[in-house]
Amino acid sequence: MKILKTIEELKQIRKTIKKDKIGFVPTMGALHDGHISLIKRAREENKIVIVSIFLNPTQFLPGEDLDNYPKKDAADIKICEMCKVDYLFMPESSTMYEKEEVLIKAPNKSYILEGASRPGHFDGVLQVVLKLFNLTRPTNAYFGKKDAQQLSLIQQMVRNLFLDINIIPCDIVREKDGLALSSRNVYLNKEQRVQALKISKSLTKAGQLIGKKEFDVKTIKNAMKEVMCDLDIEYIEVVNKNFEPINTVELKNTIILVVARFNSTRLLDNLWV
Ligand code: AMP
Repeated sequence: MKILKTIEELKQIRKTIKKDKIGFVPTMGALHDGHISLIKRAREENKIVIVSIFLNPTQFLPGEDLDNYPKKDAADIKICEMCKVDYLFMPESSTMYEKEEVLIKAPNKSYILEGASRPGHFDGVLQVVLKLFNLTRPTNAYFGKKDAQQLSLIQQMVRNLFLDINIIPCDIVREKDGLALSSRNVYLNKEQRVQALKISKSLTKAGQLIGKKEFDVKTIKNAMKEVMCDLDIEYIEVVNKNFEPINTVELKNTIILVVARFNSTRLLDNLWV
């Protein structure tokens, strides 16, 4: 595996790859089994695998956890080596950005749900993902369904800007007890870790109701609130794949999204039905 730090190095390597399929997995590091599942899938489906680790400052709002975000470069490098990644791109912030830049503006649906509490977050996400796409020019790019709104906006960016890249959505990887893996889980203390289980349990409950043909969104939300009774719920929302709120579950076109807060730690989870 080659570690690349500069744009020039990556460009040079990219020039040498002519017709081989390239799988690309962008991450912010502190890799866990969720990231690993994306990398493994990329490894299975492509000749060349490129992973990026870049803590992108433009997607963090002032006061968010940019400075405290877990950093595990040495472990991340080992994981990528074990997953047989070909190229690991780890640039500095100054390598990726100038002082003032041409900006990408995410559409209005980026200001609901995640964007409501993190306005501008998705502008930063799209900005960096477009830069990384332009540098790597992958055949396939792998994203977790865990960040469902991000995935949807990236799919839209690819459509709107006519990028020739397949976006591959990947299933959510969970701990044995159901908690969705996240780099931010390390912020939880023991008690919060136990409480956090209620998030995935509420989604299991929603899935059970839908299995019994209960499609009414109000009823489903109420049942989820009961499971998460003493949690600080930021939102429970039910949307279609275009991220429009719906009142009735449509099978194969519905995402149930939850965010709960544990002090300043926000945990996201969702269920695609
Ligand atoms: P991040 O490092 O948080 O930017 O995540 C990089 C990629 O890994 C994104 O596409 C995430 O959606 C994906 N990801 C993060 N956690 C999980 C998980 N538990 N299961 C599957 N994919 C995940």
